[in-house]
Amino acid sequence: MGEPAFGLARERTVDHLAERRFDLLVIGGGIIGAGIAAHAARAGLAVALVEAGDFGGATSSASSKLIHGGLRYLRLGDVRLVREAHHERRTLTRIVAPHLVHRIPFLFPLYEGGPYRPAMVQSGIVVYSALARSRLNWLVEPARARDMVPSLRPDGLRSCALYTDAWTNDARLCLANVRAAADAGACVLNGAEVVALRSSRGRLVGAEVSVDGRDIAVEARACVNATGPWVDQVRRLEDPRAGTSVRLSKGVHALVPADAEWAAALTIAQDDVRVTFAVPWYGMLLLGTTDSPHEGDPAAVVVQQADVEQILAEALIALDPALLDRDRVLATYAGIRVLPTGTGDSVNARRETVFTRGPAGMLSVAGGKLTTYRRIALTTLDRLRPELRLNRLDTRPWPLPGASGLEQSTLPLEVEPDIRAHLLHLYGSLATEVLAPALEDPTLLERLHPRGPDIAAQALYAATHEWARNTDDVLRRRTTVFYRGLAGEDTVARVERVLAAAAPLRSGS
Ligand SMILES: Cc1cc2nc3c(=O)[nH]c(=O)nc-3n(C[C@H](O)[C@H](O)[C@H](O)COP(=O)(O)OP(=O)(O)OC[C@H]3O[C@@H](n4cnc5c(N)ncnc54)[C@H](O)[C@@H]3O)c2cc1C
Repeated sequence: MGEPAFGLARERTVDHLAERRFDLLVIGGGIIGAGIAAHAARAGLAVALVEAGDFGGATSSASSKLIHGGLRYLRLGDVRLVREAHHERRTLTRIVAPHLVHRIPFLFPLYEGGPYRPAMVQSGIVVYSALARSRLNWLVEPARARDMVPSLRPDGLRSCALYTDAWTNDARLCLANVRAAADAGACVLNGAEVVALRSSRGRLVGAEVSVDGRDIAVEARACVNATGPWVDQVRRLEDPRAGTSVRLSKGVHALVPADAEWAAALTIAQDDVRVTFAVPWYGMLLLGTTDSPHEGDPAAVVVQQADVEQILAEALIALDPALLDRDRVLATYAGIRVLPTGTGDSVNARRETVFTRGPAGMLSVAGGKLTTYRRIALTTLDRLRPELRLNRLDTRPWPLPGASGLEQSTLPLEVEPDIRAHLLHLYGSLATEVLAPALEDPTLLERLHPRGPDIAAQALYAATHEWARNTDDVLRRRTTVFYRGLAGEDTVARVERVLAAAAPLRSGS
């Protein structure tokens, strides 16, 4: 392999960060920061994107992985949010990321004694589906519902409402935006934490960024704080007296093996507001989420035994108990929701985006949804138009890297059908790039674990083209190994060897 693409050589990127003067510094490389950076770079701005940990390493890889209108927001009366989210879902599935975002039917089971009456749910689904411009909305008899989801609990089942939404791989959607930003000329770096902000005559002029044990000064005309749950911590770097703009809520998920092919996901009513999901995801069932207030450092969020027990107990409402044995859990993860401050339970809070302006001009953006990240990015840039001297902002959707040319994609090598489908899903037409080094080194076609479709070439690509710095970055966010419960010692060692072999390419030496 020759020169690593995209200025991935870390040292050179660090030099660039220190030497160039940027129009916009984006702090935080979750889906919101990555989306802002990609749109800003495509608008012709000189952009720097810095991420303290890994791209997508916080909330943006800990979601329910749904691109959805949000049935519960309809219940809360937020028609505008639902309409906007549906619009985004259509845009993502059709144009922006058709390889990564896929439609799926959802069943909403209605049990005797449950919190909803069928007529009420059906009228809600009719409105939801009208906003989605989808005709998939009717009540399904229990027998038909069990054809779609064989492990649906039959006793007390009156009927199921049927509607449609979509699923995705959140971490990869975030990475695709980072890649789009880099392709458009942005300087992007993970493992780069903003530790102080710099101002001159009362206006922000950049930040101090801690990278690989040294602090560098990054100069920028404007700064966006897109640090999700850390939003208030970073606001206080600008104004130590800044109050609290958001509150935090922890959400946990668990994965168990699916027992059969599921033709639909399940939305399970827990009470008259809160729902949980059981979503077929890579041959597993993604279960969750919990929703409980979180105080203190967002980085301290962990999955507790009680969280997993709650998830399994709540799934029992609609699922065969045999699926929900604690020993069947393959993986768990926790994330932090950002909610507008206000009174009331976090389960009742509207998932709106919170924008705040600091005294020296920093724009902070937090909250919202993965689904609406594009809208949030465009709104953020619109708010910054005067200082960025952006006359016009093109709001038309464009395909993320890998999203176009899918139909014509012929891979350079024969691979087994499950691997082929997996690569085309994760990388779209860039799967050819992932496989290219395997033409010279066929060992890269080996599976990282015999029971999963991820292969060694992905670990190499993660290091050379996707900013992966360690095994965790590869196993959790570049591939699906962690979620499948396959990140054992041998697999970790295999990835370590690939990363070691890739090191000279990454350092640019
Ligand atoms: C449990 C749960 C389930 C969800 N399910 C869904 C769903 O199914 N569908 C949906 O649409 N939405 C869902 N969401 C919402 C969605 O995940 C979030 O809205 C979205 O991921 C937020 O992205 P973000 O970029 O704002 O934050 P994050 O992804 O948290 O990114 C912020 C980044 O800033 C970095 N950072 C912090 N401080 C600094 C610093 N000083 N310098 C540099 N970087 C810094 C952090 O390391 C972090 O990576 C869910 C959220 C949760 C918690």
